[in-house]
Amino acid sequence: MAIDFYRHDLGKAELDAIARVLAGPILTTGETVAEFERRFGEYLGRRHVVGATSCTGALHIALLALGVEPGDEVITTPLTFLATSAAIAQAGAVPVYVDVEPDTGNIDATGVAAAITPRTRAIMPVHLYGQLCDMRALRAVADSRGLAIIEDAAHCVEGERDGVRVGDLSEACCFSFYATKALTSGEGGAVATDDEELAAKLRLLRLHGMTKTAADRAVEGFKAYDMVTLGWKYNMDNVQAAMLLPQLERLDQKLALRELLARRYYEKLSDVPGVQWPAVLPGRHGRHLFTVWVDPTVRDAVLAGMRAAGIPVVVNYRALSFLSYLRETFGIRPGQFPIAERIGESTISLPFYAGMPQEHADLVAAALREVLTAVRSRRTESAAFSRDR
Ligand SMILES: *Cc1c(COP(=O)(O)O)cnc(C)c1O
Repeated sequence: MAIDFYRHDLGKAELDAIARVLAGPILTTGETVAEFERRFGEYLGRRHVVGATSCTGALHIALLALGVEPGDEVITTPLTFLATSAAIAQAGAVPVYVDVEPDTGNIDATGVAAAITPRTRAIMPVHLYGQLCDMRALRAVADSRGLAIIEDAAHCVEGERDGVRVGDLSEACCFSFYATKALTSGEGGAVATDDEELAAKLRLLRLHGMTKTAADRAVEGFKAYDMVTLGWKYNMDNVQAAMLLPQLERLDQKLALRELLARRYYEKLSDVPGVQWPAVLPGRHGRHLFTVWVDPTVRDAVLAGMRAAGIPVVVNYRALSFLSYLRETFGIRPGQFPIAERIGESTISLPFYAGMPQEHADLVAAALREVLTAVRSRRTESAAFSRDR
């Protein structure tokens, strides 16, 4: 029985929605995008959503729209996908890293105040694996120093903590619709905000700084457009939006399946020696990825053993201080974020998606138990061997 790391569940509803777009004249940004923006905004409880081609692009224009300028500093986490930092660099700003909480892997809000300088303009937290950061604490620090918060919510469409939902306490909240995310159009992203002026700026920045779109021209006939600022080419198209719309109906039901799967993993792994996992806080966990932690000295051997056993496993993520470009450009180095680095060297992401059979979790857990036992006994033998010599 082949075990998949991830499988999407797109099918007939999405095909039908795409067919409806193909039957009309507008493939690029138009009515279907507008409808997705409305409906996703309703789901989130936000007044405005601006569809984009990626979360990276969404983060980039959110920074620009909030007035982040070259040389400004943005406080963020060293334990995330590199896109969070890439967006900050694309805006010409400098990522300033604050180490993470040892139990959750999320940015440690208590460390943020100490990292603020006169050049700090914003905080960019990441809700790692789908569990919300301490947004109340981050909002308090941001307010005390006049900073904006831009959430990287690529892992967390559904999350809630301390009565705060994703997007509730930030100026802008960015989502990814990349192939493996909870909502997907293969590639795609969005910014959600309650600020109308900010939403208008984001609409300009996602399409060349132009005052009219192709769909406007189709409706109004040709009217001269202006280019009022430098913009990018990040506009979501109607085909992407069509794929996303039917999935909004399934979001909560799919989260419930992932929650059940996570509980199955906890149950099956609870008596496996040497396996730990991030703490789960009260609230609603977005359950994007399921990661466990093993001793860093055996992690790579366990990864290899799992793959040899036919179980697809990956690492989300090694700390950013190991990435050459960020090291060379921003002067970070291994050793600087001991908690993020330790978690990054301990992490194994296990197969996890809404339609995954529960029995697959049993097989994965059993394989992990066996592989860990084998790796450990090899280590004990080689330790005894070097002692004997
Ligand atoms: C996937 C991901 C991104 C990037 O999303 P794209 O839509 O591929 O640009 C950014 N941040 C995190 C934490 C992610 O997991």
